[in-house]
Amino acid sequence: MPARSSRIPGALAMTAALLLAMSSTAYAGHDDDGIDPDNRNQAVKGFSLSSNGTSAMNHGKAELERSVITTSWGGGDIEVYDSTYGKTGWHGRTDCTNWNALWTSCDIIRIRLNQTQSKTASQWKSLGCHEFGHTADLGHRSASNDTDNNSCMRGAGVWPTRYDQHDLNAIKAGT
Ligand SMILES: [Zn+2]
Repeated sequence: MPARSSRIPGALAMTAALLLAMSSTAYAGHDDDGIDPDNRNQAVKGFSLSSNGTSAMNHGKAELERSVITTSWGGGDIEVYDSTYGKTGWHGRTDCTNWNALWTSCDIIRIRLNQTQSKTASQWKSLGCHEFGHTADLGHRSASNDTDNNSCMRGAGVWPTRYDQHDLNAIKAGT
């Protein structure tokens, strides 16, 4: 989709608030306020990804397919980047780079995966699952509401690689 040429101040403020929130936690670094996908069919594209980044993207896309959201390749909805972003304290970030009209949902969602923060192969998959979960408007889970430790929305320290049924139900209810 064409890039929006201008944004209203309110959208900028929302973006700023989201960025601020993202810097406060260690893993993917934000809850998901404001990143609602604009529909249930999401086209995915990776940009010059490392093998780890490709693994994370492929796994995240496959996990999203388990939900009510269908995916395809080609981009325009979910765009995935990885780089050595530095010792930032975060492994991944998801934000919106192109809001839809009325700024109520996101047309192009950007995922950034941090190569600087070292991860095992399984942890890269967990990260992919986690960030793709944010594209579906999932927020973070905690030990108290994921007592069997099987949701990738938990994040670093636990590193589950899949959505649990609670996550899948939440995507269905929220998108
Ligand atoms: Zn997160």
